[in-house]
Amino acid sequence: MSELINTLLRPNILRLSPYASARSEFKGEARIFLDANENPFDNGLNRYPDPLQWAVKQKIAGRRGVAPQQIFLGNGSDEAIDLLVRLFCEPGRDHIVILPPTYGMYEVCADVSGVDVLSVPLRADFQPDVDAVLRAAGEHSKLLFVCSPNNPTGNAFDTEKIEALLRGFPGIVVADEAYADFSSKPGALSLIERYENLAVLQTFSKAWGMAGIRLGMAFAQAPIIEWLNKVKPPYNINQLTQQAALQALETPEKWAEQVRIILAEREKLAHTLHDLPFVERVFPSDANFILTKVNEPNDLYRHLVAAGIIVRNRSSVILCEGCLRITVGTPEENRQLLEALHQYAAT
Ligand SMILES: *Cc1c(COP(=O)(O)O)cnc(C)c1O
Repeated sequence: MSELINTLLRPNILRLSPYASARSEFKGEARIFLDANENPFDNGLNRYPDPLQWAVKQKIAGRRGVAPQQIFLGNGSDEAIDLLVRLFCEPGRDHIVILPPTYGMYEVCADVSGVDVLSVPLRADFQPDVDAVLRAAGEHSKLLFVCSPNNPTGNAFDTEKIEALLRGFPGIVVADEAYADFSSKPGALSLIERYENLAVLQTFSKAWGMAGIRLGMAFAQAPIIEWLNKVKPPYNINQLTQQAALQALETPEKWAEQVRIILAEREKLAHTLHDLPFVERVFPSDANFILTKVNEPNDLYRHLVAAGIIVRNRSSVILCEGCLRITVGTPEENRQLLEALHQYAAT
């Protein structure tokens, strides 16, 4: 129980009696399971998966230095974003706060739930405007989404700024750290012990190389995690995903090596971009992509599409005028990208 969290939750959520699945009512060892109407013939997947995914959480807890009870697992971090909105924001009354330019799912989840969005743009240096956020926030500001390293700008936010937001914001601060493994700056995970209004999102989709299994993590003190567990679909993480995650967690060296390669490639790509005549700016990146400002973004975008290379055109996004967002690929993919860029420069 947390007094703060209880005052922030929607009234219907506070009154909720959650669905009790067969596997959550009986916990323990048994020989014969006749409680869930499954097909009894063993094919490796005939049983419902663990609704709270304890084996996976134990492994993650060991790696991240948190307790398993401080972890929620979602069908991608997108599920955690959606559930946080549904836990805390009363449609027509409450709102979320976002810091554009940023990840689009925060606004989409709010829109789907009929929840308003208050936008406080980043400063020109792509850092949060702490004073402006705290001035704009009020009693109906339930969630603040802080994406660090930020998508699409690529930079990590200053830790002091995130802490100032944690101290001053009246609701929950959600630090989306999908790209934390590519950043040299410390993330917010170590702050969850100190701030009961902090939730940190991470994902298997980026550095871990497992976007296809759809597995996202939310870290927070136990009260927020318990509420997320109460409103999630009972078996939100399927058996195949849990198995694939356990396997991936056995070989952390593999993705650590891939991250090293991606970071080396990122630096190479940044240098080459810098020297191209049509490139106006290459923004520093703490992520696995680079935001770059070019003089004819739509023209360059079409040139790359014609070469079979798809990047993200962000040129119509606030503060990203003229910009493309380029994900760092394999060394061979990046070589082909640079070839196409040099070809464009020669036209
Ligand atoms: C890619 C990304 C995610 C990942 O979402 P999943 O649902 O876990 O795949 C989350 N946040 C941001 C900012 C991202 O760019």
